[in-house]
Amino acid sequence: MASRSSAEAATLRSEPGFSFSAAAGPLPPEVIADVAEACGAGASSILSLPFTTPAFRRLQEETEACLRRLLAIPDRFRVLFLAGGASAQFAGVPMNLLGTKERASYVESGCWSRRAIAEARRYADVSIVACASGHISDVTDWQVDRHAAYCHLTSNETADGLQFHDFPALDVPLVADMTSDFLTRPLDFTRLSLVYAGTQKTIGTPGLTIVIVDEGLLQRAHAKTPRVMDYTQQAEAESRLCTPPVFPIFVAHRMLHWIEARGGVPAMACAAKRRSDALYAALEEGEETFTTPVERAHRSLINPCFRLADEAQTALFLHAAEAVGLRDLRGHPEVGGLRVSLYNGIADIAVDALVGFLRAFARRRSRGKGV
Ligand code: PMP
Repeated sequence: MASRSSAEAATLRSEPGFSFSAAAGPLPPEVIADVAEACGAGASSILSLPFTTPAFRRLQEETEACLRRLLAIPDRFRVLFLAGGASAQFAGVPMNLLGTKERASYVESGCWSRRAIAEARRYADVSIVACASGHISDVTDWQVDRHAAYCHLTSNETADGLQFHDFPALDVPLVADMTSDFLTRPLDFTRLSLVYAGTQKTIGTPGLTIVIVDEGLLQRAHAKTPRVMDYTQQAEAESRLCTPPVFPIFVAHRMLHWIEARGGVPAMACAAKRRSDALYAALEEGEETFTTPVERAHRSLINPCFRLADEAQTALFLHAAEAVGLRDLRGHPEVGGLRVSLYNGIADIAVDALVGFLRAFARRRSRGKGV
C-alpha cells in the first residue's frame, strides 16, 4: 500500500509537459519550492499551523496588506478570507446584499453566470440585464433594474472564453465573480462594490474564496444567513468566525508576493495580453483549421476557447497534443470544443510550445497530411 501510494505520487510529480487546465492554475516553481519547504518543517509545518496563533494572524495580515497594495483596494472595502468554493458566494451574495429588496439584476454571459443566476433565483426575483453567448451588446443597452439590490457580472466566463474588459458605471452596486481573472488585471473600485474569487486558478490552491466588499453593503444580511456566510459577522471576526483555510491562505500569501516581486498586477496583465495575443494569432493564421466563437472585443485573455473547423477531428487533436505533453485542452463539458487556460502561474515556455503545436497542426491539415 505504502509503495503504491509513493508510486502514484511519483507519477503525479513526473507527468511530463504542461497542463492548460481551467480548473486549477499552475503555481510557479519558486512558489512550489517555498510551499514544499514550509510543509516539511516538522512540528512547525504550515500544515498544522493553528489559526489561533500570532503567527497565523501575522500571515493573514500580511496577505491582506499585499492584496490591498496589489489591487489598490480603498480603505472602505473589507477583505474576507472564507472557506468553500466561489459557488458558495452564488448564495452568499443574495443572502447578504438583498436587504429589504427582493430584486437583483444579473448579466447572463455563459455557464458560470447561469449557475450564479440559478442559485440567486432561490433567494431573489432575478432579472436578466443582458444575455449573451459570444456576443455582448454595448453596456448602454443593458436594462439594469433601478430597484435591484445589485447587479451581478461574471468578469471572465471560464467555460465560454468570454471576458468583460471594462466594468460599467451603474446606479446599483456592481458585484463581480472574478474567480478566473482575479489579479490578472487592475480593478476600478469606483465601479465595483463587491468582488469575489476562488483562489485555485490565479493565486493558489482550492479551499479559499476571497470577498472584497464595500462596507456600505454590510449590515443587511437576511436573518437566516448562516453566520459563517454572513459578511458582517465575518468582517467583525476578522474572518475567524470558524477555522479559516490556513494552508490556502499561506499559498495565496506566497503567490501574492511572487506577483508583487514581478511588477504587480500591471505585469500580470501584460503577460496575459502577450500570451493570449500569441495564441489568438496562431488560431487566426490557421483560420481554415480553427474557429474562434467569441467576438474579438470580448475574447478572454485568460481562457481562450476555440474549435476545429472539422469538429470530428477534435479527439485526434487532443490525442496529438497529449502525445507532445500538452494536456487538458478539452473544452468545458457544457460547451465542448477546446480551451486553453493562461492563469498567472503558467510558464511562457508552455505557451510557446502550444503555439508551435497549433501552427504545426494547421500546416499539416492544410497540406492534407493528418496530424
Ligand atoms: N465562478 C467561475 C467564473 C468559475 O470559473 C468557477 C469554477 N470554475 C466558479 C465560479 C466556481 O468555483 P468553485 O468550484 O470554487 O465553487
